[in-house]
Amino acid sequence: MLNIDYTAKILDLEDVIVTNVEKNDIELHIYLELPRKIHSCPQCGNETDSVHDYREQLVKDLPLGRNALLHLRKRRYRCEKCHKRFYEQNSFLPRYHRLTNRLVADIICSFSKLQSAKEIAQAHNVSSSTAIRYFDLVSHRCSALPRVLSIDEFKGNAGGERYQSILTDPEKRQIVDILPNRFEGNLIQYFRSFPSRKNVEYFITDMNPHFRNVAKVCFPSATIVADKYHVIRQAIWAMERVRKNEQKKLSDRFRKYFKRSRYLLNRPFHKLTPDEQNSLALMLEISPRLADAYRTKNEFLEVMKSSSSVVGREKMVQWLNTLNIYDLPEYSDCEKAVKNWFTEIMNSLDVPWTNGYTEGCNNKTKVLKRISFGVRNFDRFRNRILFCS
Ligand SMILES: [Zn+2]
Repeated sequence: MLNIDYTAKILDLEDVIVTNVEKNDIELHIYLELPRKIHSCPQCGNETDSVHDYREQLVKDLPLGRNALLHLRKRRYRCEKCHKRFYEQNSFLPRYHRLTNRLVADIICSFSKLQSAKEIAQAHNVSSSTAIRYFDLVSHRCSALPRVLSIDEFKGNAGGERYQSILTDPEKRQIVDILPNRFEGNLIQYFRSFPSRKNVEYFITDMNPHFRNVAKVCFPSATIVADKYHVIRQAIWAMERVRKNEQKKLSDRFRKYFKRSRYLLNRPFHKLTPDEQNSLALMLEISPRLADAYRTKNEFLEVMKSSSSVVGREKMVQWLNTLNIYDLPEYSDCEKAVKNWFTEIMNSLDVPWTNGYTEGCNNKTKVLKRISFGVRNFDRFRNRILFCS
């Protein structure tokens, strides 16, 4: 048996008297009670220390190497004046609860780690549904919008919708909120609920026209910025389309060679080994159209590296003009996107923010999705993501 005074210290519960400790391989039973003291009657305010009776309450506590169970001998006082009977007060256990406050707090905290509810439940000697029920008590409400607001969508498959929207603050690197879908009307309604939406100076978005419409309605004085990563992807996709079309024309042997070597087209040239540089040169020699596409893509990346919109604007116009010289119909979607998003793309050259932080969050979200078995419940999914960030 443990030394009882020592146990009281380990327990770190205020004022408790430990009367006995029993343990076996899996459980630790601690018997305790509170010191008898004067209480005020909750009905008439009269002071009393008359004990009516005792009742034992079994309470789960933070595991101390093994599952900990507290046997609390709860005292009921009696008011001599109005005869009201009432339980003594304690600081570690709300009425009717079977878990200590600190066990509940630890369960809730555990949801901030990338663990499944089942794992959390097992570690705390409670059922999964109990763990989830406590976690559901946590609610997040975003109170203000940041100066720089970034929006992106991700495939969460939560609450019956395939896509959810994620709002982040790329400046402070925080998730702002998760919204149940990506519909224009819902987004507008959501943003309109913020009196502080004039705070938003920059709105970073992927090239989704709905998001841009939302920004124009809700943040008319904000600068709308196209996310660089999504812009660059347009040129990379266009080049990929050229490669696929070109390799169809080739013999089996060369077709496989193109497919195998396609990564060479996207890696910076100076990072390739001499052998890889030769392989790339061979590909470009076999297909002059792929060579044009490759050059066009690289020139586009150079434009996107411009130090400001003043420099970039001229370069981009030149890039568009040059594109017309080549026989590259696969670039027409990219060209359309650039023209359609010209202002927002130019804005991206003047600011340091991208959706990079958001993309990182999306990766974390994927892990959460894998370990959460109840993502059909959108609110819980949202809380979990916000809690983990
Ligand atoms: Zn009373």
